[in-house]
This record gives sequence, C-alpha cells and structure tokens, in this order.
Amino acid sequence: MSYNLDSDIIQRILDQNNIVEIIEEYLPLKKAGANYSTLCPFHKEKTPSFIVSPDKQMFHCFGCGESGDSISFLTKYKNYTFVEAAEYLAKRAGIVLEETNSSKVNKNKQTADILYKINRDAAVYFYKNLKKAPHVLAYLNSRNIKADVIKMFGIGYAIDEWDNLLNYLKNKGYKVEDILKTGLIISKEKNGTYYDRFRNRVIFPIFDIKKRIIGFGGRVLDDSLPKYLNSPESLIFNKGYNLYGIHIAKEKVRNKSFILVEGYMDVIKMHVHGYDTAVAALGTSFTENQVKLLKRYSKNYYIAFDSDEAGQKAALKAINMFKKNNLNARVVIMEDAKDPDEYLNKYGRGSFDKLIENSLDYYDFLEFHFKEILENSNKVEYINKIFDNIVNVYSEIERELIFDKLSRKVGVSKESLIKEYNKKNIKQKTLINTAKPAVKPQVKKITTCHEEELIKLILINNDFAFKLSEIVKEDTFKDLRYYKILKELYECRIKDISIDSESLKKITGDSMDVNLQIDNVDYDNLEALFKDCMKRLKLKYYEEKRNILTNRLRQSDDSFQSKEEIMNEIYCLAKKIKSTKEEVN
Ligand SMILES: [Zn+2]
Repeated sequence: MSYNLDSDIIQRILDQNNIVEIIEEYLPLKKAGANYSTLCPFHKEKTPSFIVSPDKQMFHCFGCGESGDSISFLTKYKNYTFVEAAEYLAKRAGIVLEETNSSKVNKNKQTADILYKINRDAAVYFYKNLKKAPHVLAYLNSRNIKADVIKMFGIGYAIDEWDNLLNYLKNKGYKVEDILKTGLIISKEKNGTYYDRFRNRVIFPIFDIKKRIIGFGGRVLDDSLPKYLNSPESLIFNKGYNLYGIHIAKEKVRNKSFILVEGYMDVIKMHVHGYDTAVAALGTSFTENQVKLLKRYSKNYYIAFDSDEAGQKAALKAINMFKKNNLNARVVIMEDAKDPDEYLNKYGRGSFDKLIENSLDYYDFLEFHFKEILENSNKVEYINKIFDNIVNVYSEIERELIFDKLSRKVGVSKESLIKEYNKKNIKQKTLINTAKPAVKPQVKKITTCHEEELIKLILINNDFAFKLSEIVKEDTFKDLRYYKILKELYECRIKDISIDSESLKKITGDSMDVNLQIDNVDYDNLEALFKDCMKRLKLKYYEEKRNILTNRLRQSDDSFQSKEEIMNEIYCLAKKIKSTKEEVN
C-alpha cells in the first residue's frame, strides 16, 4: 500500500512527533540547558557530543557532524527507508495517511480542486462587485482602507440579493451540489431551493499558506447582526488549522514577530499602518494547530487581542500556548481602545509602536492579568493562579526567575514558594507519567458512535441538521443521552446559526470529544451516509428505550393501568424497531 506523503503531510508528521521522545526510545538523554545530550550512536566517543534540540526538532553531533530531524534519525539509526520512517511516525502521532491509489482520495482531491476553483471565481466576482458599489468603497475609505490594501487582501462585496452569486456560478457551469459544498449557498429545507449565504456584506476571502481561497468572512456595513459571518467548515476549510492573513504575513515575518489579533479588520488595519505580519484566528479561539503552523515561520509573537475581558482571557490562553511550545510571546495592552483597529484609528502608528515597546512578557502579563486578586489582598489565591499558569513554562531557569520575582511581589520566601509549587504539581506529574500508554498508540478511530458520525456530517454540511427534527420531535427520545445536543444543533440550523467545531464545543461541553476528524469521509455519498446513520441511530434509541421500559415493567409496583400503558408503548416500539431494522439491512 502506498500513501500520499507530500510536503504538507511530512511537515504535520514532524510537527506532531517530539524528536526528544523519538530518540529517547533508543538512547538515554540527559538535559543540558535547553537541549539534551548523549553519546553519539553514529561514531565512537567517550564524552557526549550528540545534541538533541527540542526547539529546532533536530539532532546534531559535534563529533562526526551527523544531523537531521526525526525522520532522518530513524533512517540512520533504524535503517528505515524514508517512507517507512514517515509511516511509523504518522502512526505514532495518530495521523491517518491517505492512500495514493484509493479512488476515494482521488475523488476527494478532484472535489477539492473544484471547490478551490469555485471560491476563486466567487472572490473575483465579489471583488468586481465592490468596484461597482461606491457606497461600500466609501465605507472602506472612511476606515482608511484604500485600493492597494483592497487588492492585496482581495476584499469584495456581496450584493444585497438572494441568488446573485448562485446564478453567477451556475452560469459559469458549476453544479449546485459543488457550490453547496463550499458553503457559499445554503439550501432551503422546505422547497429544495438555494440562496446566497453572504448578502450585503463586505467580503474577506480567506487564503491558506498556498494562497488558495478556502473560505470567506463577511462583515455587515451597518450595525445589524451577526456582525461577522464565516463560511462553514468544508472539505477545504478547516478553521483551526488556518489563520487569516497567513499567506502575506509568512513571507514578511523573517526576522520580525507575528502580531496576533482577533479580527479580519484588525489584520487589515495593521497592514494599512505598515504592520505586515498580522494574523487572526478565524472566528474561533486560538488553537494548538495554529501555533504549529506559525512556528514554522517565526519564534516571536505579539498578542494584540481585544481589551475586554474575553479578549484578555484569550490572550492568557494564547501566551500559555506559546510558552508551552517554548516560543517568545508578549502581550500588547491597549487601555484606551477596544481593539487594534480602533486604537490605530484614534492614535496612529507612532503610539502603537510605543504599545509594542511596552508590551508585557510572560510573567509581567500574569501579574497584570491577576492584579485585582492581589489588590483584594487575596495572596494565596494569587499565588495559586500564578502556579496554575507557570506549569506551561518550558525552561526551568525561567521558572526559577519567576519564583524570584513572585517572592519579591508577595513577600513569601522563594523556598516556600518552590516547595508549595512542587507539592501542587507532583501529583499532576505522576499522573502524566502513568498516563503514558504502555503499548504503541494505534491510529485513532474515526468515529466511535452514530451520534459522532452524525455530528461529523453536520459539520461538513450544516443543512443536515434540519433532518434532526425526526429525532428532536419524537417524545420517545427525550431522556436519552445526546438528545439535548442534537436538539440544540437542530435549533442552531433553524435559527441560521453556523455550526462549526467551535460552536459545537459550546453545545457539547465536556460530554463529547468534538475533535472529529473530517478528512476521511466519502464526500460523494454524504446524503446517503447521513440517512443511513440517522436510521441506525433511531434504531439504537428505540432499542434503548424499549430496554428501559422493559426493566421498569419488571421492577415496579405500578398500578395495573400504568403497566398496561407501558406494555402498549413497548408494543409500539417493537413495531418501529422491526420496520427500521428492515430499512437498515
Ligand atoms: Zn557523532
């Protein structure tokens, strides 16, 4: 069997395997500053000159000059071929490789190519619309967004009509089912017609690192809601893996820092003022995968999120993620504006430069963020908050320095702080150690239950959620697991709220793992898959319900009348089970 191992996949494989852990499986490693060292396996020596750098994810021997990444280590040390090493590491990280010769993969690739083309044509169309819409141009100009920036970001305008884009794309020869897959149109459940998702909005095409258009963001021109609307996730659009502005910023970043902001408008306004390395998460909170994408290009970051509470919480989360990955991040504090867009409008570039100059490093930001707790003279809580965060600090030296500062700040001896910190964290550490799997990790299963399968399909095509009415409206299902989740998804769809992994997380809370893998799906048979899945789920629910009732009948001292009711219900269920079973098989 041969797998697709293009440069994207190889990069993902390298990103998701830590070279320290790989080499540690074969050689004893000793910590040496930021690196690890051991005796070189490739030449004879008495003192270690073989260094492993977790930072660079490379090994290097100062004695014989051997060096490379995880894959080349395995090819040299284990005599694996390149492909064997890549496959082994993919399996280890739970990455499902695509077979190059499987027809499904080819079909998905063909579909993806069509979706990119549709998006490209739609973007050109939006861009041309904008030139013919003086009121929108005036709006952009009033925000200091001129022709050069409009062109650079491909900003456009969606006309205020229900089927304007749909008709344009149909006339270009695209099939409605393909247009639907991009999320540019939405299907009306009742009569099977379609309408444009984006109407009367400024359009921001979203590019991936290869400069392909993977989705769109649309902003209203007035105060109507929702202010921002995004394309749903699709075969080619995975929000957690991309950043708005990355296609430009990655080429400009070289010796500079990325500037992480919250919204499209912030990214664009930063560019207007000459900050060309700004990027934004795509209407979701910042993810680990986005960190992995960014760190290919730079180690240095400024976080310039909104100044409200939500923005500051997000900044705390982001700086911890950077810290955990041993990257340098600082937080820009804006006291007199709600976001960089507003700040730059009010005060201009010179002042923002000062903000950057005065940005806070990791520890200073923690102090700033939790200062109210200390001001309310709750020292213990304050110390605990700091402890909870600094577990993310990668370097022991840095943590040592933090204890120095913290000790001075709260007037508790450094020794006591360290003792307390270790006491708190020793439990967690042993937990982590024992949690390490004894056996080699297997490739992750795609789904474990019908509900997840169903939700996965809804993520791909939100319109499937309409069909949940069959479950939502049946009283029989009310007290079963996941009923509430399915009901909320149904209601989202009815209210035209987009369902993506982020909103799903809010709905499911901790009750479900929402990191559903959507790359291993037969995109040509979505409809059939969904129908089949619904039937199986209903069958499962009927059977569960019947079991509940049968047990109640056995155990209860209910009156004869209520027992008869239960028996009736069981009888009805039995009929439904029988007919559904026939449909499924
Ligand atoms: Zn060597």
